[in-house]
Amino acid sequence: MDLGLQEKVIIVTGGTKGIGEAISKGIAAEGGIPVFIGRTSADGKKLLKELQQKGQNGHFIQADLNDPESCKNIVAETIEKFGKIYGLVNNAGTNDGIGLEHGTPEKFKNSVNSNVNHYYEMAHYCVKHIKASKGSIINISSKTAITGQGGTSGYAAAKGAQLALTREWAVELLPYGVRVNAIVPAEVQTPQYNNWIATFDNPEEKLKNITQNIPLGKRMTTSEEIAHTALFLLSEKSAHTTGQHLVVDGGYTHLDRSIT
Ligand code: NAP
Repeated sequence: MDLGLQEKVIIVTGGTKGIGEAISKGIAAEGGIPVFIGRTSADGKKLLKELQQKGQNGHFIQADLNDPESCKNIVAETIEKFGKIYGLVNNAGTNDGIGLEHGTPEKFKNSVNSNVNHYYEMAHYCVKHIKASKGSIINISSKTAITGQGGTSGYAAAKGAQLALTREWAVELLPYGVRVNAIVPAEVQTPQYNNWIATFDNPEEKLKNITQNIPLGKRMTTSEEIAHTALFLLSEKSAHTTGQHLVVDGGYTHLDRSIT
């Protein structure tokens, strides 16, 4: 299926690792131009080289999305280089474990701010360019917004806010034909996920317990499966889909827990 993403410039925050990397690679494989953002230069350069070796396009911008002005500068650099932006995938985020009982109000504020502010800032600076190309915005949220996780108030609040913003922006951008959707992953084995699993006394046992509770296939969702949904939502093939929260998790969040 031709998704029609050739030459489309799409910014992917956190596009150098995990879910974001799979989305960047997917866009490039479709002939689009992913502009991937990350803090670690080596990861961005490695991905760019990999794409170039396959004859694909892409551009890496090293930035910390929480630095003042960084979102504005990312959009400015993208426009200077390519002159257009079709899509934005807000994806970078950290489950930083700032809980209710053991957190502090200050840490909570920082956690919410560092997980949601750059989603708004990136969309704010991109919107006039995305309007011009009748493009698409995707927010990568998390099942924690729906189920809770315990011990991660800031992250869960930010992920919930991202779902609310998805509907809010979908409404605001209706007149321009710009679509806004969210993807809600649950259990995807990325570098961040591996770091989290490693915090348990018996990580292998913990992973086994989680995967056996994932209804479809008793396995983790792959980053590529999240990316495939993102490509669909970016493309014209989803032309009448907006304001949706797509839960891509093998039924983990919503199906009956008694299923064996
Ligand atoms: P990951 O493996 O940690 O990758 C995160 C990416 O974001 C990396 O490229 C990282 O690069 C970049 N990044 C993080 N903070 C940044 C910042 N302040 N500025 C610039 N770049 C930054 O994470 P992931 O598991 O793929 O998660 C991606 C998204 O999916 C997140 O929003 C997460 O909440 C969501 N999610 C994941 C899961 C899961 O099971 N993995 C489940 C639910 C939701 P650098 O480290 O170089 O900056």
